[in-house]
Amino acid sequence: MRSPFRPLLAALALALAPLSAPAADEPVLNLYSARHYQTDEALYADFTKASGIRINRIEASDDQLLERLKSEGANSPADVLLIVDAARLAQAKDLGLFQPVRSKVLEERIPAQFRDPDGDWFAFSSRARVIVYGRTAVNPLEVATYAALADPKLKGKVCTRSGSHPYNISLVAATIAHEGEAKAEAWAKGVVANLARKPQGGDTDQIKAVAAGECAVAITNSYYYARLMRSQKPDEREVVAKTGVIWPSLAGQGTHLNVSGGAVLRHAPHRDNAIRFLEYLASDSAQRYFADGNNEWPVVKSVKVSNPALDALGPFKADALPIAALGRHAAAAQKLVDRAGWR
Ligand code: FE
Repeated sequence: MRSPFRPLLAALALALAPLSAPAADEPVLNLYSARHYQTDEALYADFTKASGIRINRIEASDDQLLERLKSEGANSPADVLLIVDAARLAQAKDLGLFQPVRSKVLEERIPAQFRDPDGDWFAFSSRARVIVYGRTAVNPLEVATYAALADPKLKGKVCTRSGSHPYNISLVAATIAHEGEAKAEAWAKGVVANLARKPQGGDTDQIKAVAAGECAVAITNSYYYARLMRSQKPDEREVVAKTGVIWPSLAGQGTHLNVSGGAVLRHAPHRDNAIRFLEYLASDSAQRYFADGNNEWPVVKSVKVSNPALDALGPFKADALPIAALGRHAAAAQKLVDRAGWR
């Protein structure tokens, strides 16, 4: 996809095109995506059908894509980046990887809470960071808040992945935003003091550890639990049967939300197509595909998903903190997590 001959070819194409031709803009979009869901195929096919724009896609992990974009610099062929987590979106913005976009469609459909104030990135789905508890291990009423995870009553009973993982960094960043750094640090230290084991694995591993009785409670993103709820595998159904989900409140504001989002890259060769693609992702049908593919919620308020797992988990009060605020506190959150020894 990346070719040193691209500028030459483009110049040649321009030279050969009749003078009256509109500005050369291939009907192509180069997409770097950290998403890897079956339903995304339908999403991309629908876009191509509606726009005539073909999508060239490179899929890799969030961190691999950011590294790749950094090393490609101004030669990058990428038009759009799709990644997850508020802290990562903010980091990519700070690295200068994005360009600001003004779009009436995006600004009208995506609530201000879910987009960068400068237009550098837009969230397209949201996920909650929840607490999972063992049904025989703890009374869920005693873990109704994130603060409870730091209560000495839960000593030796808490499982989490590394505090440095972006999902936990964003949770700590939200705590800083609501309660300040000192309280956030005391909380992180309290969580570390309550750990049942050294942080290890991903969120699903924490849920399984609760089911196995290794810990009484754990922190996880909502879609990992929803995925287990929709699983047909007997061992995963058993994990769900042994556990429950709590919508914890953060500083009385509701459950912490994170996002997945997209941005137009700074050196996008097909800028107009890139904006058109982001606008398409905010459409009703794309919002349903985009969110439901990973058991998340659409950010466009009028769009409703019908997802058996999310419906079963029920409604909850979500924290209204602007997602951009998480990025602003991410660096402080990382230092604080290091000081707390939440490795
Ligand atoms: Fe994840």
